[in-house]
Amino acid sequence: MADRDNLPVVVIGLGRFGSSMALELTRLGTEVLAIDHRPKVVQSLAGEITQIVAADATDLQALHQLGVPDFQRAVVAIGSDIEASILTTSLLVEVGIEDIWAKAISRQHGRILERIGATHVVLPEHDMGERVAHLVSGRMLDY
Ligand code: ATP
Repeated sequence: MADRDNLPVVVIGLGRFGSSMALELTRLGTEVLAIDHRPKVVQSLAGEITQIVAADATDLQALHQLGVPDFQRAVVAIGSDIEASILTTSLLVEVGIEDIWAKAISRQHGRILERIGATHVVLPEHDMGERVAHLVSGRMLDY
């Protein structure tokens, strides 16, 4: 059984953000189930991530078939398709995943994700902009 800090993670959406996350988690030794509905994306990462499948994450039956409800931790890395991001997050809440990290592309999108039950919302571009501002100002050595 994995310890609390190294629980298996399902990563949904393998764009730049999701694929970087899935690859880094794999490198760190975390068991990853990666899902994207574009077969080409799945093919291109197949050699690097052990469990990777092409499926529509807004399809509840597909999530059950893949064993997604058995995971305690998930990342929803779908951004620009806000409808798919919201639907997927709400299905993960519905199947009982406790720890859901969801990517948002705007503060409003982030607020909706929090309201429907995402436990952590990440705004990569805003967050990175703030970090880089600290680095540029020279005030923070390791922000
Ligand atoms: P990034 O900036 O990380 O590249 P993005 O926000 O520009 O991402 P999106 O179009 O939101 O890109 O999608 C991220 C990934 O999620 C894509 O690879 C896309 O195929 C996948 N995706 C979108 N909808 C679904 C879905 N319903 N089921 C599974 N994967 C999906």
